[in-house]
Amino acid sequence: MPGVCSDPNFFETTVEPLLAVGREGDLCEWLKKNGLIAKEQKCPNNECLTTEKMQWHRARVVDKFNWVCLECKKKLPARHGSFFADFKCELGYALRVIDSWCKNIPLSDVSGEGRTKVNVAKRIYNGCAQVAEWQLKKIVGDFKLGGTDVVVIVDVFPDGNMSLEVPTTSHNNNFSKRVLCIADTAHVPVRVWASLLDGSNKENSKIVEMVKNHVMLGSTIVTNEMLYPLLHNLPGIGEVISTEALMNLDINHDHKSLKNLETIWATTVEACIQLQDMSTTHAEQHLYELQWRQMYGFIALPSMIQQIVEYTAYNNPICPPLPSIWPTN
Ligand SMILES: [Zn+2]
Repeated sequence: MPGVCSDPNFFETTVEPLLAVGREGDLCEWLKKNGLIAKEQKCPNNECLTTEKMQWHRARVVDKFNWVCLECKKKLPARHGSFFADFKCELGYALRVIDSWCKNIPLSDVSGEGRTKVNVAKRIYNGCAQVAEWQLKKIVGDFKLGGTDVVVIVDVFPDGNMSLEVPTTSHNNNFSKRVLCIADTAHVPVRVWASLLDGSNKENSKIVEMVKNHVMLGSTIVTNEMLYPLLHNLPGIGEVISTEALMNLDINHDHKSLKNLETIWATTVEACIQLQDMSTTHAEQHLYELQWRQMYGFIALPSMIQQIVEYTAYNNPICPPLPSIWPTN
């Protein structure tokens, strides 16, 4: 993506200057331009016969502007029908929190004044996670890993070879959640598809199904000794190598292969440990978030903004925001 979208300091260079006191009008224009709030509104009053669009007015409200119908005097908030509609905070604060989510800053470190703001920040974080999940589900059909001669690693947390030493101190439920993880090593950083397993005796067929669905034909699969018998005969897969066989190639038995694998899986293992204490729903969402960050992390805020616009339009067909003109300036 050209222009502003590739700016790693997008928030600091483009958004933050608009959050200064007195620039609320400029901020609203920027939000309109990018589709985050509506560019125009029609009067929602059924008894109002005007055909004129509502007028943009300065007002003594938190956004400093609102929409007014000149005929019946009906008013609408500037953020009506937008992603921000449900958040009771300044638009600038919401944008700061969205940026913090994009930077993967823990919610507990997001500054706010008082309990209300903390709750609002939490809801905005949930909103971003929902958008990320929606985006990932939307492109799930395109989410194929590997390709001819590309090495794809398939493993299961915690019993595979993802980590030499899995810490056991941070929780006490013995890793009740098993996660199938598939990594495409052709991407930097490695792109990972991950999904919770259910621990049932149907798990093996689920694993085979997911590998078939997410690994492209011609890929070379590296997998642990337990999965090897399941996967080594998959049609269309170039070659299947067990980690054990890989280790036998290590000179001096220095576990170089395992150490490489550990590096590849580092962020995934971290996520798999974090999700152990979560509900299944939250754990799934956490995996979507992991994948989202791997795909969009370098241009997280512009990506999130664009996806918020699409998500809002998708979920609110009655009152869609105008299409984003992203990424033009
Ligand atoms: Zn009206």
